[in-house]
Amino acid sequence: MRKYQEITPEILEKLQQAAPGHVYTGSDINEDYSHDEMELYGKRMPDVLIIAQSVEEISAVMKICNEYHVPVTTRGAGTAETGSPVPIYGGVLISTEKFNHIKEFHPDDMSVTIEPGVLLFDLAAACAEKGFLYPPDPGEKFATVGGNASTNAGGMRAVLYGTTKDYVNAIQVVLADGTITRFGADVCKSSTGYNLKDLIVGSEGTLAIITELTLKMTPAPGIVASLIVPFEDMHAAIRTVSKIKNSRIKPQALEFMERSMVEMSEKHLQKEVFPKSVGGVEAQAYLLVTIEADDEDALYDKIEKASELVLEAGAIDVLVADSPSKMKEAWAARSGFVEAIKALSTMIDECDVVVPVSKIADYLEEAEAIGEECGLTMRCYGHAGDGNLHIKLCTDSLPEEEFRRRCEVCFDKLYDKAVVYGGLLSGEHGVGSVKRKYLERFVGKTNMQLMTRIKQAFDPNMILNPGKVVYDDV
Ligand SMILES: Cc1cc2nc3c(=O)[nH]c(=O)nc-3n(C[C@H](O)[C@H](O)[C@H](O)COP(=O)(O)OP(=O)(O)OC[C@H]3O[C@@H](n4cnc5c(N)ncnc54)[C@H](O)[C@@H]3O)c2cc1C
Repeated sequence: MRKYQEITPEILEKLQQAAPGHVYTGSDINEDYSHDEMELYGKRMPDVLIIAQSVEEISAVMKICNEYHVPVTTRGAGTAETGSPVPIYGGVLISTEKFNHIKEFHPDDMSVTIEPGVLLFDLAAACAEKGFLYPPDPGEKFATVGGNASTNAGGMRAVLYGTTKDYVNAIQVVLADGTITRFGADVCKSSTGYNLKDLIVGSEGTLAIITELTLKMTPAPGIVASLIVPFEDMHAAIRTVSKIKNSRIKPQALEFMERSMVEMSEKHLQKEVFPKSVGGVEAQAYLLVTIEADDEDALYDKIEKASELVLEAGAIDVLVADSPSKMKEAWAARSGFVEAIKALSTMIDECDVVVPVSKIADYLEEAEAIGEECGLTMRCYGHAGDGNLHIKLCTDSLPEEEFRRRCEVCFDKLYDKAVVYGGLLSGEHGVGSVKRKYLERFVGKTNMQLMTRIKQAFDPNMILNPGKVVYDDV
């Protein structure tokens, strides 16, 4: 492991001057700051926690840390599932939780400027109040938008609207040496030199700290409805994904889930919404499709077309959730997957590979065989519309050491297969610390070296979120 400067009384005093009243140490730091959602990946308390509230504070803190070579990790809400906000080298943890104001709406430019600690839930509600939609819709609504941008979060609506990067017009950042600068602009297009903004989006706090975001909004859709579509087998469900995508239905969301996953979630929520048997045929997999339109007539026209299409493709039924309460029920089961798996297993691990949509069914079949071979319970669901699969490995009986050993073997095989199918390591959760060892397999040595050189250009002392994403040295 790389060697960094420890926090001395002199450094601590300087940090306290840089962020007066916002610096915490020892037992004043809550244990929550030592991990993200995947505690299995390991915990590490920061030596110093700074709950920053302004760009000036963050800049002053970075100047000190850069001078002394103190590692700095930025944390939004800590909902990552890759170990990315865990300060694995100790040092300083900068939390943006109180740096969380919506600064200004620009309705004529259809954009909004915010501080990075604003929660997705709050941003979405504020945009809706103004009659706009902020399209990125990852499952965890209480993540920060700064965290969403730093992981290029995707989510349910990515199939129609794209991911967070498609909604970041401009950012203000603090560089490793404390310099404050801006990338991008509040414009609709750009062909203006290297795209540094998009380099920061998805860089997991390893290149710079995002201190302000100007985000694109769209007009809110007139009306939406969801369809629950059961299938007799997984292949039929997945084959239908491309058919829906290639139609004029243009779904806003297109999710795939296995029956066992739905049952787990419904058991946890104690509410059954998805049909399990239709006319004596057992459902084994489902698609959950959300459709939007300008008005009711257009919506029902699309629903009719979608129903015909899926039934022709082998669906055994179509349930329409066309009221807010029915939609909420349908999506509650989907949104509850992670919580349900956690509640009903003693340990879980996960990969969020992305493969071409045309390869989902073949990949999933191979993945399930790998899970069985490794003696692990596997639960699969995903944003099928964009080929992004969440494969959860879980146990309620194996001892931790054995579970970890089997997961290692299983991931190795799952990632090898994803490479064969032309996929990538992560569709939306990022690389963090735990997936770093697999990255080269997907991008190759040359690209790994390029990434490390980019890191060195932004952060010559390698103090920003060390141990994540890239190699320590070229
Ligand atoms: C139930 C559940 C469902 C989820 N569903 C989805 C989903 O559908 N799609 C999806 O993409 N993800 C999903 N996630 C993962 C997670 O919510 C996202 O990765 C989210 O974007 C993380 O935001 P955060 O504020 O929690 O960031 P954190 O977890 O605190 O940090 C994540 C990374 O961003 C960096 N970071 C945070 N803020 C800044 C900043 N201001 N400047 C620079 N770097 C920063 C951190 O250093 C870290 O590397 C889910 C998680 C859970 C628990």
